[in-house]
Amino acid sequence: MLVVTRFYAVLAAALLISVFGIVATALRAEPSQDFRTFVASLWPQAKAAGVSRKTFDAAFAGVQPDYTIPDLDIPGRPKVDNTGQAEFTKTAADYLSKGYLEKLGEQGKKFLAEHKAALERIEGLTGVDRYTLVAIWGRETAYGTYHPPNDAIRMLATLAYVGKRKEKFQEELIAALVMLQQGVPRSDMKSSWAGAVGLTQAMPTEYLKFAIDGDGDGKIDIWRSVADALAFTAKQLEGKGWVRGARWGYEVVAPAHADCSLEGPPDTRPIADWVKLGFKKASGRPFTKAELQSDAYLMMPGGAYGPAFLAAQNFRVIRLYNTSDLYALFVGNLGDRIRGEGEFVTPWKSFAQPKTRTVEGIQTRLQKLGYPMDKIDGKIGSNTRKQIGLYEKANGLAIDCWPSDRVLAHADARAAGR
Ligand code: CA
Repeated sequence: MLVVTRFYAVLAAALLISVFGIVATALRAEPSQDFRTFVASLWPQAKAAGVSRKTFDAAFAGVQPDYTIPDLDIPGRPKVDNTGQAEFTKTAADYLSKGYLEKLGEQGKKFLAEHKAALERIEGLTGVDRYTLVAIWGRETAYGTYHPPNDAIRMLATLAYVGKRKEKFQEELIAALVMLQQGVPRSDMKSSWAGAVGLTQAMPTEYLKFAIDGDGDGKIDIWRSVADALAFTAKQLEGKGWVRGARWGYEVVAPAHADCSLEGPPDTRPIADWVKLGFKKASGRPFTKAELQSDAYLMMPGGAYGPAFLAAQNFRVIRLYNTSDLYALFVGNLGDRIRGEGEFVTPWKSFAQPKTRTVEGIQTRLQKLGYPMDKIDGKIGSNTRKQIGLYEKANGLAIDCWPSDRVLAHADARAAGR
């Protein structure tokens, strides 16, 4: 019996392997033909951008698409349903890990001293403060200790071929070819899956627009020269509207009568008005006159379960570098730590991260009930938190601006007319 069972087990395994083999071969062989056609179709655009045939052919030699990149849109392939997975998103407390921020902050202080002369020059040139620049370097590659493992040409070509934003990535791919044409070594084109390169992980189109020689050696090297990489980052932030001499924002303490439904960019107002409403810096220090005149919006990435922030123009600029509230907050806070401040005064409370499905469910019901919900995406952005807060307020619920099964059940009953 045992022998027979084992025989069937072996047979089943063999069958499984051969089925996988056929599927794998099909996946490899069939799209790669189309992929070659796709690559060939890029030539006129590359040529028009000044790329030589030699550079073009060398760039794509041996390059195959990488179907393991997240978020691809491949026809005929079943969509992966990850809407039930809580781990697909990180809580603010996890993302803004105190230990990691502390470690990067301490390292950042050393690099600040080491690159003082270059940073002063870059500050003078662009107005972007040294703390933010070092923080972006720390956030992106842990000060150059993280080496992105992928081939940028392969990543960009795959995303231009079967990604969800093909046009954007085709533009990035052409820009990457232009970088090679300008003399960037092929071996330097290493990236994360999204195709960003260099010590501060920037996209090729940004490189073509903003990269400069920061250390004055006549070359641009955003892979080995910290001064070049940080000057490039500073030029990018300057180009996106950085305000010289201003902070990204401030942790604040909200007055008892205010709540999280005031959050979000549409409620931007001068800091003086926030102060009139009773908001104070969590550090206890007063706002300066210039700060009081600047505009900011309230941001509470953990709803009522964490610190509150007033996000100023430079927060928006960092957010343009990488479109995420938590990313911008990480960089802002790390910069503050490098400056010698930055400990969050209000702690993040621990709570279960809601499932994407729960968030989507609430978004759908609130939209049906007339709450302005521009996107049904399952993500807990500032508008989603705000609308939940307004819904809770209108319905006499405890106001926490946070998606939960409690809010979903309530909104579901209301939307169904119960
Ligand atoms: Ca240089």
